Amino acid sequence: MSEDTFRVMESGTVPTADRITHDRPDYSGENWKSGATWSRRELRDNEVWKSFSLVHSAIPSPYAWVATTLVQNGTSHMIDISTGLAMPYAVPLGYELEIITQRGSWNQNAVGRIYLPTGALILEWYIAQYALYYEETVKMMSTIDFDPTATTAITVDFTVTELNAGTMNGFASLNCILRQINTPPIKDKDVRCKFCGHIEKGVSLDTWRLKCPKCDKITLYTILNKVVKD
Ligand SMILES: [Zn+2]
Repeated sequence: MSEDTFRVMESGTVPTADRITHDRPDYSGENWKSGATWSRRELRDNEVWKSFSLVHSAIPSPYAWVATTLVQNGTSHMIDISTGLAMPYAVPLGYELEIITQRGSWNQNAVGRIYLPTGALILEWYIAQYALYYEETVKMMSTIDFDPTATTAITVDFTVTELNAGTMNGFASLNCILRQINTPPIKDKDVRCKFCGHIEKGVSLDTWRLKCPKCDKITLYTILNKVVKD
């Protein structure tokens, strides 16, 4: 399949070769008339998903990105769901990080902020309590917009701050593509125990579970290095 392939899928049907289009969307035919939508974007060989998320909840969870409720005027940093490490995220040299979607919903008024590159505020958005914010754009932003050769150390941060009283529950997430530009593939990762903060260095990219050698508790992660093809 071509690297630039997109697929148009009807809900509940299996994609077939005649529905595969190249270079641009196919707005003709029955797919479009039936209300078909872009269901997924196939990753290229040099791309993996990179996602940062945060759930504030009173319900305990072993997942790395689920934290306790946020206190008034508190600020939280999104967590890399494949490692448990809090943002700011240092984009590996030789890689581009492209932001694809952002979303969030909280039970308090909140403000979300993105800092890119390296500590500079670039985006601020507000969300009223109990609303759902979702944004998916064709072109949002990418570290390549600031460093086309991917040779500069760039950090990306995404925070949420509560604006009114009360404990804050809810979630936010930032979904990105990490794109290899001019460097060898990443071979391993560091993961963080969510309970004591211990960082286990150099574990396999397939690591989805860590039984902490320091506190003996288990933290769960996602594996985003796998590119699932049909
Ligand atoms: Zn621990």
